[in-house]
Amino acid sequence: MKAFKYLSPESVETAISFYGEHSETAKYMAGGTDIIVKLKEGWMEPDYLISLKKIEEMNKLKKNRATNELSIGALVTHATLEKSLMIQNDYPIIYDAVSNIGSLQIRNVGTIGGNLINAVPSADGAIPLIALDGVALLHGPDGERSCPVKDLFVAPYQTILKPGEILKKITIPPQAPRTGSCYTKFGRRAAMELPLIGIGVLLTLNSDYKTCIKARICLGVAAPNPMRACDAEDFLVEKQITEEILNEAGNMAADQSKVRDSIRGKAWHRKEMIRVHVRRMGLKCLELITNR
Ligand SMILES: Cc1cc2nc3c(=O)[nH]c(=O)nc-3n(C[C@H](O)[C@H](O)[C@H](O)COP(=O)(O)OP(=O)(O)OC[C@H]3O[C@@H](n4cnc5c(N)ncnc54)[C@H](O)[C@@H]3O)c2cc1C
Repeated sequence: MKAFKYLSPESVETAISFYGEHSETAKYMAGGTDIIVKLKEGWMEPDYLISLKKIEEMNKLKKNRATNELSIGALVTHATLEKSLMIQNDYPIIYDAVSNIGSLQIRNVGTIGGNLINAVPSADGAIPLIALDGVALLHGPDGERSCPVKDLFVAPYQTILKPGEILKKITIPPQAPRTGSCYTKFGRRAAMELPLIGIGVLLTLNSDYKTCIKARICLGVAAPNPMRACDAEDFLVEKQITEEILNEAGNMAADQSKVRDSIRGKAWHRKEMIRVHVRRMGLKCLELITNR
């Protein structure tokens, strides 16, 4: 691995200014679980590594009691999310996703921000944040801007972030009553496995506890970037949710996906798993709503 200088700023502004001084040869680092692999393999050779870990304002997980908006700092680790009772109770889709990332060691240091900005199609953390209509707050040399999490991704390993920009936090708008959400990662092994396919479903029912008023079906490893199956979502709205209707939505989501063959699995298998798991996750959402 090529030698580099390690900088450890304590504010976003200082980090951006360090980046500005060395822009051609600097990289940001959070938990390091993705970037250190790239440095070791020689895929990246920065002269400066700017660690964001000491920036306290980016390491906060809190819910605004007045607005019910959830704020997740980009440096919050998967383990912190996994252990949070608020996440376990109110955002099961986030819990399902982060509690299955890598190993305990990876979850202890890997951050939600790094998971998003690494921008791989299999990023487990991206799916729940898209399903929950999360909004990313970015801060760069030209100031702050916001962007829906679903629009962060351009291509594998590529986001809309401009040089020097930092993902500061993700905010999740308040959830409507009678909302259920869950995620499953389908892979060949139960642990230490990137998903063959990742499926997140969120349903909101109206006061009859039957009719769908909002649906989100989000898929990982189904396209070059995490995606929403919007046709299937639209199909569910205003329908009374039954197993048959969810089955149909699963077929539509599979048809809308852009799955392909890879070393980890075949396209046809991925499509079948989308069909099956959209139905299963939809049924689980109904269960979560009823049991609340
Ligand atoms: C053994 C192993 C197993 C894994 N298993 C899984 C898995 O099951 N599921 C999964 O989704 N991932 C998995 N990963 C990938 C990785 O652990 C996660 O993506 C993790 O969340 C990355 O976060 P990090 O803080 O370590 O990112 P880093 O490695 O620090 O950074 C990743 C990238 O994001 C940039 N970056 C980081 N934070 C910011 C920020 N706030 N603003 C701007 N840029 C930023 C960095 O410059 C870098 O390009 C695994 C990795 C390993 C090594």
